[in-house]
Amino acid sequence: MPKRVVKKAPGRKRGTEAAGARQAARTRSVSDGPGVRHAAGTRPPVRRTRESQTARQQRAARILALLRERYPHATTALHHSSAFELLVATVLSAQCTDERVNMVMPELMRRYPDAAALAAAGQEELEAMIKSTGFFRNKAKSLRGIAQALCARHGGQVPDSMEALLELPGVARKTANCVLGTWFGKNEGIVVDTHVGRVALRLRLLTTARNDKDAVRIEQDLMPLFPRDFWTFLSHALIWHGRLVCTARKPKCAGCALAGDCPSAGTLG
Ligand code: SF4
Repeated sequence: MPKRVVKKAPGRKRGTEAAGARQAARTRSVSDGPGVRHAAGTRPPVRRTRESQTARQQRAARILALLRERYPHATTALHHSSAFELLVATVLSAQCTDERVNMVMPELMRRYPDAAALAAAGQEELEAMIKSTGFFRNKAKSLRGIAQALCARHGGQVPDSMEALLELPGVARKTANCVLGTWFGKNEGIVVDTHVGRVALRLRLLTTARNDKDAVRIEQDLMPLFPRDFWTFLSHALIWHGRLVCTARKPKCAGCALAGDCPSAGTLG
């Protein structure tokens, strides 16, 4: 009996095919128009549109104006009174609510009021203090490493440059942008957290980002659309909008100030 030859598609492996099918299914779930909903908890891919960069730029300008009206004093919800406190709070805020961080910070700062004190903290002692913020082992390790680096390289002070901040252990652009923009008033980039990624994706402001967690590309997509002077404001305004209106599970499109400029308005269920 002749042997049956099964031809494989060139360059595709089994795992890749399965991943491709899953990706296609996810893409269908968000791109087939009104009435089609994202499954809760899925990571929506970016939907490509034919909108020109000029049209997107004009839409971005209108969105910025609306955000300035709606959130004129938008800033971080993390309580802080120094760059050091903001840096520590921002590290703790990863995968955690700002409210929880604000509950932990007073006692933490009482015990470790500066970089020297935090650098000398014991790992287990620190873990116990920040346990409720989640991922406490890694966060404690990062905080001790950051404090030790601040003492060793910056006289115990938080540096005000992107380059120096990114050299601190565990510090990436999100944290650096937050500290630089919020405390030092330097618009070096856009803070991309879960809210910014989600809202920017729904507003279809992303052109190269693969999904709403693709922080590096999301920041690169957003920066050319908005004037540099507003990058920090935009970050905080989008975070507030994501918390209050464009929430993950039930966006309130009917009462959203951005609905007129949002291609996703009314399509997310
Ligand atoms: S219209 Fe809806 S999807 Fe668009 S930004 Fe507002 S709440 Fe989010």
